[in-house]
Order: sequence, then structure tokens, then C-alpha cells
Amino acid sequence: MEFCDECGSMMKADDGLWVCGSCGYEKPKGDASDYTITEDQEVSEIIESGGGTNGLPTTSAQCPNCDNDEAYWYMQQIRSADESETRFFVCTECEHKWREDDH
Ligand SMILES: [Zn+2]
Ligand SMILES: [Zn+2]
Repeated sequence: MEFCDECGSMMKADDGLWVCGSCGYEKPKGDASDYTITEDQEVSEIIESGGGTNGLPTTSAQCPNCDNDEAYWYMQQIRSADESETRFFVCTECEHKWREDDH
């Protein structure tokens, strides 16, 4: 389900586009914001499709698996659109993956 950016009406899927039934506004489907991936996507797919983990930003975070202190990170929405996004880390050394709020 998608709503028009212009007038807020419900949009219809039309051949790779969302088309507003009310004002005719069109936008491409699947324009996710940077580093936001959906629940059914795995980070490995992002890494593979993005030309390696170079596609993800890195930050200083301690890996619980190998004690490396640098990790790639990305945002992932867990449930519905009104749930807040959770930050995930992927260790640059061992590729261990963990959630920011895991303790
Ligand atoms: Zn519209
Ligand atoms: Zn690690």
C-alpha cells in the first residue's frame, strides 16, 4: 500500500510505478531510503548486491564474538511501519551480526 506524496490519495501499482488515482502523480516502486532494508532481506544480500561490505558505513562497535572494535551498520525495520527502526551491526572481521539493543 502506498499513498500519494502530493495529495495523500491511495496509489495503484502500475508496471513498476505507483500511480495516484486522484492527481496522476507517479513514483517508482521500491525506493527504500539508504541502508533501510525490509525484514525479508538478509544483510548478506545487501552486502553482495552492494559490491561488498564497502557499501555499508562502518562505526566503532565492539563485536561480541571476536572483540573487534569496528562494525558495519544498517537500519532495519522489524515489524510494521510504525515500529521504530533497529540498528544492526556486522563485524568487519568475523561478519558476526547483532542488534544494537541486545545486551
Ligand atoms: Zn495524488
Ligand atoms: Zn567479530
